[in-house]
Amino acid sequence: MAQQTPSSNTTTGSSAPDGLAQKSVERLPESFYTQFLSISALKRKPSPIRGLFPLEKTPGLISLLAGKPNPSTFPFTSLSFKARSPTNPDEELDLTVDGDELRAGLQYSDTAGTKPLIDWLFGLQERYHGRVRGEGWRISVGSGSQDLIYKAVEAFVNPGDPVLVESPVYAGTIPMFENLNCEQLEVETDAHGICSTSLRSILENWPAEKPKPKVLYTVPYGCNPTGMTATLERRKEVLQLAKEHNFLILEDDPYFYLYYGTAPRYPSYFNLEETYLGETGRVLRFDSFSKILSAGIRIGFATGPTPLLNAIDMHTATSNLQSSSLTQAIAATLLNAWGYDGFQAHIDQVSAFYREKRDIFEKGMKKHLAGLAEWDTPEAGMFFWFKLLTKDGSEGDSKAIIETTAFNRGVLALPGTAFLPNGRKTAYVRASFSLTPEEDVDVALGRLREAILDAQKE
Ligand code: PMP
Repeated sequence: MAQQTPSSNTTTGSSAPDGLAQKSVERLPESFYTQFLSISALKRKPSPIRGLFPLEKTPGLISLLAGKPNPSTFPFTSLSFKARSPTNPDEELDLTVDGDELRAGLQYSDTAGTKPLIDWLFGLQERYHGRVRGEGWRISVGSGSQDLIYKAVEAFVNPGDPVLVESPVYAGTIPMFENLNCEQLEVETDAHGICSTSLRSILENWPAEKPKPKVLYTVPYGCNPTGMTATLERRKEVLQLAKEHNFLILEDDPYFYLYYGTAPRYPSYFNLEETYLGETGRVLRFDSFSKILSAGIRIGFATGPTPLLNAIDMHTATSNLQSSSLTQAIAATLLNAWGYDGFQAHIDQVSAFYREKRDIFEKGMKKHLAGLAEWDTPEAGMFFWFKLLTKDGSEGDSKAIIETTAFNRGVLALPGTAFLPNGRKTAYVRASFSLTPEEDVDVALGRLREAILDAQKE
C-alpha cells in the first residue's frame, strides 16, 4: 500500500527549547494512521467489556458489567512503605496506600493505566518534553517499556515488512523483528547518533515499486549498546526525513533520565516534532521507570498519537489485560509525595551516581586497555562500547575473545555481535558499568587486558 500524505489540523505549539523558534503546529489527523497499522492490528476489535469500562463512571449508573472480584474479600488492608526523600538524605518518607487508592490498586483498572499515575505522567511529559496535555495524543502504561515496544511492533509491522533500525541496535528488539521475518535495514550510527546520510541513502535509493519502511527504531540517549547520545542536529535531520519519507519514529528512551553530560540536554524527538518539525504525530515515545525507580516494579509508558496507542491497548486487552494496578498505585503515591521537583532531585542523584561509575570505569579502561581497545565516552546510560584492536590493524572479532578467553580468565561481557540484526562478526564489545564496585572494575579490566593479550599471541 502506498503511504499517504496527510492533511492535518492546525494547533498551537507549546514551549520551545532554547534556540528553537515557536511556530504553528499541524496535527496529523486520525485517518492518517490506518496506513501504519498491521493487518492483525486492523483486525482487532475493542474488548466488549474493557471498552465499556469508562461508562461505569457515569453518575447514578449501576454497573452489572464486569466480572470484577469484590475487593472486600481481598486480604490486604493497608500497604505501607518507606522511601528516600530526594531532597533530604537524612529523611525517610513513610508512605501508605490505603482506602480508595488501595481498593483501586487491588482491582482491575483501565487498560491504558490508572488515573492517578497517568495524570502524573502527563505533568511529567509537559515538564520534560514541553508537550501540553491536549487533543490527539495520550499515554499508556505497560509492564515495562519492553511490553509496549513489543506490542507497538506487532501493531505496526506486517510479516516481511522492511523496518529501519539503528545499528548496532538494542538486542531486545531483534527477535521482535526476526519473528516477523522483517527486513531489518541497518542505519549506521556514530558517536553523534543516527547518521542521517546513511538513513537518507537507504530512503532515496528505495525501489519505486516497493513499499517504504513504516517505522524507525532508535534509542537516542545513552544508547544500549553504544552509549551514544544523538545530537540536536542529527535529531532534526532524522525528523525531517521521517516527514519526507513518511515513517514513524519509535523513540525508545529508557536512559533519558540517566544523562550526565555537561552540555544542556537535547530535546527529545517527541518535543522536537512540535517545536522544530511543526507537525505532531510521527513520534511514539517509550519511557521506563526501570532505571530510576525500580526494574522490578515493571512500569514503562508510551506517549504518542491516540490511534497508535489505541492499537497497543487493544493488544493489551487481549493479552495481559493491563499492567499491575498495584505497582501503579505504589508509583503514584511515591511520585505525588515527591512532586516534580523531588523527582528532578532524585534523577539528579541517579545521574550523578552513574557519572561517577562511568568515570571510574573509564579510568580502569585507560589503565588496562590503552592501545588494545578504542571507545567514545558515553554521556548517558550505563554502557561502554569499545572496539578491540588487532596487532596488524585487521578487523577483529570479539566473540571468541569475550566468550571464551575472557570468561576463562573470570570476566564476562557481551560480544557486539548480539546487537547486530544479521549477527555478523564485529570487534566491538559491550560492558555495563552500572553495578560493578570500584575494586572489581580494576580486577575485571585487568583480566580483560590479559585475555586480549592472550588472543593476540594466538
Ligand atoms: N529498551 C532499551 C533500550 C533497554 O535497554 C531496555 C532495558 N534493558 C528496555 C527497553 C526495556 O526496559 P523495561 O524494563 O522498561 O521493560
